[in-house]
Amino acid sequence: MLLEELRQRVLKVALDTDRLNLCKGTSGNISARDPESNLVCVTPSTVPYDQLGPDGIAVVDVNGQMVEGKYKPSSETPMHTAIYRARADVHGVVHTHSVFATTFAIMNRPLPAVVITMVMMAPVPVVPFQMPGSKELADAVAAAMSDGRPAVLLQNHGAIVGANAVEVALGMAVYLEEGAQMALLALQGGALNPLPEDAVARMRAAFMRGKAL
Ligand SMILES: [Zn+2]
Repeated sequence: MLLEELRQRVLKVALDTDRLNLCKGTSGNISARDPESNLVCVTPSTVPYDQLGPDGIAVVDVNGQMVEGKYKPSSETPMHTAIYRARADVHGVVHTHSVFATTFAIMNRPLPAVVITMVMMAPVPVVPFQMPGSKELADAVAAAMSDGRPAVLLQNHGAIVGANAVEVALGMAVYLEEGAQMALLALQGGALNPLPEDAVARMRAAFMRGKAL
């Protein structure tokens, strides 16, 4: 089996998205790119993750052409491969329809950095609605992430995060969802006060130097 270890990692992250309540059923999709071969391991469409073994994770090339797998790759594969083509530094992508992040996407409202766990990804912009699975959506998401940002919201659809490893992308998707929940509660409480911009810049610089926040 091609890339068995990477397929296993994608499967584990897919199961984690379900366990962490980021995705229900088969609604999200997860992928990872092998840095050596440039091949992409991606969750299949319509098969529940708890019924999958690593051989159920599809392997496609960076243009989305099937290389190996027993099920059809996710219908959102074009969005994943477009990000990999646009971003040499991204090796893992997690796309979810998590409730609170998607709520901001429905409000068509960018999510600011409201807590320190969000400083490396916020502000998270909203990509205007395009049909799910379309080339237009893939191109719009890749363009929005081409400046190096790790996360965007998809209007009336969900959220997508890219990182240097699929497990890192999962961790950021969790922080994105948590930040969106707190931001929504703050809005309902009367005021959404983002972190001061200079503090965000200083925390980012500290993080880039390798200091823990
Ligand atoms: Zn979706």
